[in-house]
Amino acid sequence: MIEIQYWWFAVLPLFFGLGWLAARVDIKHVIAQSKSLPAAYFKGLNHLLSGETHKAIEVYVDIAKNHQETIELQFTLGHLFRRRGELERAIRMHQKLLARRDLNVAQKEQAQLDLAVDFIKSGLFDRAENLLHELSGTNAARQARIELLAIYQQEHEWQKAIEIAQQLRDESHTYQHEIAQFKCEQAAAALVRNQVDLARGFLDDALNSHRQCVRARLMQGEILFAEDKYKEAVEQWLLIESQDVYYLALVARNILNAYEKLGQISEGIALLMRYLQRYPELDVLDLIYEQLIATQGIEVAHQFVRDRLRESPSMSGLRKLLEAHLLVAPDDQKPEIEMIGKLLHDNTREHSMYYCRECGFKTRQFFWHCPGCNGWETYAPIRGKRRQSAQ
Ligand SMILES: [Zn+2]
Repeated sequence: MIEIQYWWFAVLPLFFGLGWLAARVDIKHVIAQSKSLPAAYFKGLNHLLSGETHKAIEVYVDIAKNHQETIELQFTLGHLFRRRGELERAIRMHQKLLARRDLNVAQKEQAQLDLAVDFIKSGLFDRAENLLHELSGTNAARQARIELLAIYQQEHEWQKAIEIAQQLRDESHTYQHEIAQFKCEQAAAALVRNQVDLARGFLDDALNSHRQCVRARLMQGEILFAEDKYKEAVEQWLLIESQDVYYLALVARNILNAYEKLGQISEGIALLMRYLQRYPELDVLDLIYEQLIATQGIEVAHQFVRDRLRESPSMSGLRKLLEAHLLVAPDDQKPEIEMIGKLLHDNTREHSMYYCRECGFKTRQFFWHCPGCNGWETYAPIRGKRRQSAQ
């Protein structure tokens, strides 16, 4: 028979008790850990999701104070400060991060990059530039170069921008058309200083970098025009047809000016009319109409827009037709046509704007460099044309 060791019964509850206690302590610890942090995190997140950045910042600043070890949170806060335009706080946050000794290499590079971006946003380009140059040779080098490129563009340091773009070049982004644009900017600056030969060199470089660079052709034509070489200027401008025909609209007036200088304005108008026939979307209807009125009278201009509208109906065509109608209509019909014209004008105003394909920024004036997103050649050369390419 097995002898029952009664003392077991005395000790067992103690073991259970200890186990229970140990479990309790562990769970308590876990709960304490999980309670303070995630709950507050989610609170902050909720604020962020409902667009209350300032409240989110309050929550996160509080967590960051009590949990110095939360490095990622300090990064998040830095971003939030910057996004809210509190640049001084963002700078302080990133400087404090950068001074920490417990960051790993990637975190240190990220902090330095973030600090540089804060400086850029604050307009302190020199300080940003130093930090970014220090990052060359690190894993953050590419991102640092992208920021440097933004600085040099803002400061119109085109040569430096070209060098950085060349370093950034890879299969996914050749930077060819940006480099061509930077060369065009250099040419424009040279022309301001009256250094015509230098400008020509830059434009040749632009076309070597990017054969399709319309702006370089356009500027080459302008240089020739300024030298009274009108025929050669027109030849340059017409080469745009083989690059991207719709950009011809940007030089159409220049082409007519050159023909006028040659005493052949009618030939110039006829040339534009042929282009419009071939490429109905080419944005030259207004110009031809205006020139026809000036040179051949309202009847011819009226007939021209009527024919165009019939062949290729468009809002801009309709507006021109009403304009022409108004000029030839008997007096008693004019108020009615004026009213229709005004309504049409108010409702189709957006058809007279240029749109950025990248960011949708609209403007009356054509830009090579979008003021909205800083993209190059992002505007379709056709007013009212949204988003997609003109081609
Ligand atoms: Zn844009």
